[in-house]
Amino acid sequence: ETITRFAPSPTGFLHIGGARTALFNWLWARHCGGKMLLRIEDTDRSRNSDEAVAAILDGLTWLGVTWDGAPVSQYSRVERHREVAQELVRRGEAYYCYASPQELEDMREKARSEGRPPRYDGRWRDRDPAEAPAGVAGAIRIKAPKEGETLVADNVQGDVRFPNSDLDDFIILRSDGNPTYMLAVVVDDHDMGVTDIIRGDDHLTNAARQTVIYRAMGWDVPSMAHIPLIHGPDGAKLSKRHGALGAEAYRAMGFLPEALTNYLVRLGWSHGDDEIMSIDQMIEWFDIGDVNKGAARFDVKKLEALNAHYIRSSDDKYLTDALVSVLPEIEGGAFFAERLTDIRRAQLLQAMPGLKERARTLVDLADGARFIFSERPLEMEEKAEKILAEGGRDVLAKILPVLEGVADWSVEATENAVRDFADVNELKLGKVAQPLRSSLTGRTTSPGIFDVLSVLGKDESVGRIRDQIA
Ligand code: GLU
Repeated sequence: ETITRFAPSPTGFLHIGGARTALFNWLWARHCGGKMLLRIEDTDRSRNSDEAVAAILDGLTWLGVTWDGAPVSQYSRVERHREVAQELVRRGEAYYCYASPQELEDMREKARSEGRPPRYDGRWRDRDPAEAPAGVAGAIRIKAPKEGETLVADNVQGDVRFPNSDLDDFIILRSDGNPTYMLAVVVDDHDMGVTDIIRGDDHLTNAARQTVIYRAMGWDVPSMAHIPLIHGPDGAKLSKRHGALGAEAYRAMGFLPEALTNYLVRLGWSHGDDEIMSIDQMIEWFDIGDVNKGAARFDVKKLEALNAHYIRSSDDKYLTDALVSVLPEIEGGAFFAERLTDIRRAQLLQAMPGLKERARTLVDLADGARFIFSERPLEMEEKAEKILAEGGRDVLAKILPVLEGVADWSVEATENAVRDFADVNELKLGKVAQPLRSSLTGRTTSPGIFDVLSVLGKDESVGRIRDQIA
């Protein structure tokens, strides 16, 4: 059975790169009919917080990325990490090192002056433990192989060989008894039964060191896939400026989770020319071995275009619910959230077919629906006021009694009334629709004018028109 895992360090939100790593792990597990586990790498107590863990779980849940079993806390496993470090000492695969901070500094200084990377010189590797200085706690170091090379047979990067002369005897258990990241990851992945490690390629060199630990314990090395990091459209490493934000920020910007997952899955992976994929298709088609080696570029414009597609093709009820649920989070959303009533919610649903045609995000949807939430007397945008001032009010004064006389306020009935009015007065439809739109929405753009009339209902429509001619 294929077992993957997502192993975030809870130091902030679920950023977009982490979200893609999680998605790939999840898709691969589902594709293989296996499981994806979640491990919270919370050993750095000073940088972790419960809120950060909650934000990560929340972000994954929103994206629809689910994990199997309860999340594992790495910190809670520290005893087990110690046990393995000691086991390695017993096996002669690791040893206690009592080098003082000054000695270590001298080693680094020497390496610097010789122009080579700092490396522990192995001075306690073969020394008799009986020589340990009294009262000093040692750190445990792995006995890394000195000759040959360590191969990481990576599913994405191919065979990557690391000369063992580059791997020094790194620390696996600090003198304060705390495991290093290198040890904790290996022990946890082994104990959790992880068969496939999928993570960012910034961990590729760690993979060589971790391989040394696996071998020392006689454990099978999991299959590895180091996926390229996400870069900005300019090729530079993804920064905040490019959109290296948390999943919750994308939610607040009005992206649908299915649009974001569809966008993320294609960052570094593709299936022919298919741009739009359902989750089921992703699961069916995704193969970790098909992920590209080259860095993927994040382009928020493409994400928006995809989001617009998902909005246009989503069910109206679904969109209404999605919009309502995100209102408290979006910029300027308080205006809507405070005025939301059952009636307005119903109006939103009714207006949705027109609204969704022009929206790239849920924020655009809210903005398009502003006329539903506005209260009389409406604030007029400058252009709308201009239309009213330049003859629009005369048109409104004439059409008002016509609309007051419409008995059944259906889209068809109002449309017939307005068209007849335009014909009789020899006006182009636009010359009637523009002032109507201005008075009903305070703007010069909106969904179709007959939809607006219908959504607002007779009393409110007539009232808004009257406000402008009084
Ligand atoms: N906790 C590490 C990170 O957030 C991931 C470690 C791993 O996947 O092995 O970068």
